[in-house]
Amino acid sequence: MLADQLYKTYETLKEQKLSHRRIKHIDILPLIKSRNSGIFEISEIGKSFEGREIFLLKSGTGKTKVMLWSQMHGNESTATQALFDIFNFFENPGDLKDKAELILQNCTLYFIPMLNPDGAERFQRRNAQDIDINRDALRLESPEAKLLMKYRDAFNPDFGFNLHDQDSWYSAGNTKYPATLSFLTPAFDNEKTINESRKKSMQLIAEMNEALQNFIPNQMGRYSDDFMPTAFGDNIQKKGTSTILIESGGIADDPEKQIVRKLNFVAILHAFNSISNDHFKEKIIADYEKIPFNKKNKLFDYIIRNAAIPKNNIKYKADIGIRSKSLHDKDIFTVEDIGDLSQNDAYSEINMNEAEIIPVNIGDDAEFLIQTYFIF
Ligand SMILES: [Zn+2]
Repeated sequence: MLADQLYKTYETLKEQKLSHRRIKHIDILPLIKSRNSGIFEISEIGKSFEGREIFLLKSGTGKTKVMLWSQMHGNESTATQALFDIFNFFENPGDLKDKAELILQNCTLYFIPMLNPDGAERFQRRNAQDIDINRDALRLESPEAKLLMKYRDAFNPDFGFNLHDQDSWYSAGNTKYPATLSFLTPAFDNEKTINESRKKSMQLIAEMNEALQNFIPNQMGRYSDDFMPTAFGDNIQKKGTSTILIESGGIADDPEKQIVRKLNFVAILHAFNSISNDHFKEKIIADYEKIPFNKKNKLFDYIIRNAAIPKNNIKYKADIGIRSKSLHDKDIFTVEDIGDLSQNDAYSEINMNEAEIIPVNIGDDAEFLIQTYFIF
């Protein structure tokens, strides 16, 4: 299966110059400007609010048009990195040359990597105007949103991939498994109508979900499809582009999300292949609907269970939940919950069996706790 081959050959295709979540415009500039294989037509399509160039990379000559955009939220860089791995794939597909050629014969691919470079600069969600671009699909007051809609309308793509990151504390259904990737085919009305175009995105998501089960069984979730009138996915779906939202979540031992990046690479190329040979049309809506809804804030990075916490000369039993917080330049860990966390899970846990620990409060820096109980 193609997904297996992609997974195996990934390391040779990975863009080595990108290796962590806090990539900036300056990191991707040389990777765009130095591309000279001729496989991609590269153009600057506009600038961010602060004047950083936004690029379009186009490849292929096929009749099915597929448009992808990443990082409209500046601190959501996982898929941007995967897009550069995908560019490498099309330029040097090696043993998979036939597949790469087939995709480019059947599809025309339009990529806009890092739509929000000003947000990336600060490692923040919003753009430099403090607008959430994904709530600006109607007003189009941010230059980045304006560009995205302008090119959507100019190309009128059959498929649109809206690429994001989500917190790593979503679980896939009511399980202990993280939603390592979450999907959504956004609704285009309050009734959540499924028309032909929306159905296609469901089929394609089902296809990706199936391919990924080999690598991350039970670690896919889907988002609720409540209609969001100001969001991009919903409005692009409304215009007749089969829209697929991919959210890169968490997986154990992957703080820089490089494993999740690889899974994006596999999923997106698998989807291209499936679009090229129409394989996704074998899927049914129920295949999409069987993906469990993801559950927000089910997981912690760490849980210290059944600790005896001393305070005011008494001791009480509590679980302590710790999560990382992403600042613009680093991640810190803080205590986020204290109490009965029996309904939560964590990437790492320890049971204290009512042994006494130091006094803790919500908001405390958790570095000492992690060093004491989790680093051996
Ligand atoms: Zn996002």
